[in-house]
Amino acid sequence: MAIFTNSIDLTRNLLAFNTINPPGQEQECAKYLASLLESVGFQVRCYEFAPQRTTIVARLSGVSNCLPLCFTGHIDTVPLGMTAWSRDPLAGEIADDKIYGRGSTDMKSGVAAMTAVARQIAQLPTPKAGLMLILTAGEETCCQGAYHLASLDNALGEAGAIVVGEPTANYPSIGHKGAVRFEIRTKGITAHASMPEQGINAVYKAAQAVLRLQEFDFQIAPHSSLGKPTLNVGTITGGININSVPDRCAIGVDIRTIPGQNHVEICQQLQNFLGDEVEIELLNEVQSIATDDKNEWVQSVFEVLEPYLKTQPVAKGATFFTDASVLTPKFGYPPTIILGPGEPEMAHKTDEFCHISKLEEGVEIYRKIAEAWCR
Ligand SMILES: [Zn+2]
Repeated sequence: MAIFTNSIDLTRNLLAFNTINPPGQEQECAKYLASLLESVGFQVRCYEFAPQRTTIVARLSGVSNCLPLCFTGHIDTVPLGMTAWSRDPLAGEIADDKIYGRGSTDMKSGVAAMTAVARQIAQLPTPKAGLMLILTAGEETCCQGAYHLASLDNALGEAGAIVVGEPTANYPSIGHKGAVRFEIRTKGITAHASMPEQGINAVYKAAQAVLRLQEFDFQIAPHSSLGKPTLNVGTITGGININSVPDRCAIGVDIRTIPGQNHVEICQQLQNFLGDEVEIELLNEVQSIATDDKNEWVQSVFEVLEPYLKTQPVAKGATFFTDASVLTPKFGYPPTIILGPGEPEMAHKTDEFCHISKLEEGVEIYRKIAEAWCR
């Protein structure tokens, strides 16, 4: 399958690898991409956080001391869902201006565009600065591949700026909120339901906590482009049988955070707010990221985009989180833009598609960004 003539064929080739996560099994797809990059002079290293779960880091060196530009994307996709597809999700069917398939939008079109541009940059006689591609496994299950890279001593090195090719229909985002999830538990004393006065009802305690959380104030000013943090109670589980006083209850809380918030401090804030009646456990977290839109490189990317968008881009954040929440802090916070050819509203959907015109435009945009950095 090593032959492709353009980014459309390459997207279709990538769609043919079943990288639905779980189980992921990105190895074959990663090896294919590695061979495309190695054959034009990139140094490629593979990293596996589990068998078959392959992430690649590909480097093309420059001649100057300038740090490389980093393009990054993930090669796993989400499952197909329960609804039947009207198109074969692995065949890359084309109709009108669309390529259909699981991952067409999120984000094999972005990976294809980045790889196609990387191969063009490799043809430059003497690139001034280098180019690095990080193509990850396991992003859809909380950035597993990126966390694995970040945990290794010498896997990442340095980067001067990052482009994350997640689907934005070629509109730039300068960051995204973080997320932190907590389980908040209450305890009681069980008793017969006919004598509730002999027990302590854990569900009542949890109910009070849920109602209080509606009034919770993060005490932080909204971020200029990401807005306010949010809190949602998503689950409540308590009681085993209807004829007993429940002695355990747990609620699940999802908080979306902005720069300047520390997730451990939020845990403490919640504890102070809800008092000793609750026990709080931090379940998982990803960091928010936000690049200053006044940054010179960000402005230069906005200039590249203006003719395509037919308007000056406005700095805003993506609604989803990305591998940048791991990579950007690990690289020491270089400017980071989320920008990709996929349609954000088609991500994870039945009959997912990417517009061919957006894909071709995406290749031009990435090429201009990479040439400005590397040439
Ligand atoms: Zn994605």
